[in-house]
Amino acid sequence: MRGFSVLGGDGVANDGPVEHGYPHLETVRAAITALYRRLSYDTVQTFATSVVPADVAFGDTDDLYLGAQRVARELVRHYRLPDARLIVSFREMTHAANVELAAGPEYFVELNDRFRAHRRDIGAALAHEVMHVYLHRLGLSFPGTRDNEILTDTATTYLGAGWLLLDAYREDAASSQKLGYLTPEEFGYVLAKRALVFGEDPSVWFTSPQAYTAYVRGMARARRDGQQPPLTAAGWAGRRRYARDRRHAQDHRVPGPADMPYSFSPDGPGPLRVSFPCPTCHQRIRVPVRGRVRARCGLCRTVLECDT
Ligand SMILES: [Zn+2]
Ligand SMILES: [Zn+2]
Repeated sequence: MRGFSVLGGDGVANDGPVEHGYPHLETVRAAITALYRRLSYDTVQTFATSVVPADVAFGDTDDLYLGAQRVARELVRHYRLPDARLIVSFREMTHAANVELAAGPEYFVELNDRFRAHRRDIGAALAHEVMHVYLHRLGLSFPGTRDNEILTDTATTYLGAGWLLLDAYREDAASSQKLGYLTPEEFGYVLAKRALVFGEDPSVWFTSPQAYTAYVRGMARARRDGQQPPLTAAGWAGRRRYARDRRHAQDHRVPGPADMPYSFSPDGPGPLRVSFPCPTCHQRIRVPVRGRVRARCGLCRTVLECDT
């Protein structure tokens, strides 16, 4: 199994400048939906508490192997993988880390030699690798390496260990480092969606100013998911556009514009219905077009106040 890339100028792998923005947003959202489908609402709720810094703290004077084993055990405990045992080793390699996905209960994780000198980031690398084991045991994967790595980063973050990956993102005049496949803003987005569901404030854990900035941006983006029509929290411009699209759908019996998140179902004899993504889990919700409607997402149980 492929690991993930480390950027930086110290001879590990330099994949060019750090990518920003939301190039993987559709896959990230599909990953959140897939997590709810596979785990159920109840299991997602058991991850209400994140890994906290003290759980994965790693001082430069701690023994490398004992420390790495201890952090791995913490992550195994966090993900509730009762009998899994991680054997951590270090070697020279291009990627940051990789894990051998065998039958278990022992799993061999290799970390890049770079982490010998960057021990505080070992928790971040292991958070991603142990999530590979978790998803492997669940039998949950996306086709293709890229999408599967995005699923892994998204699941790591949504289930409470991914803030470590975002915090490992640091830039200064001389070098940059980023772990994982999501951009910093995408990590911030998933972290913010988690924070909104669990009422958590992960920003207090950041040691990296760049990570904090990415989190703030991701939060703004995550809030926008809850402000799309037909949700009542939508802004004036969005509501006006929605009213126009709805009228058009009613008059011409068409689904509506392809560039909007909502679409109308004009087929059949019944009243017009509108479907749109749940702002929490992104499963599509369908409600009748008849003014104020309160719906509850069947997957993540979010109550949705709509003006259809
Ligand atoms: Zn990976
Ligand atoms: Zn939902």
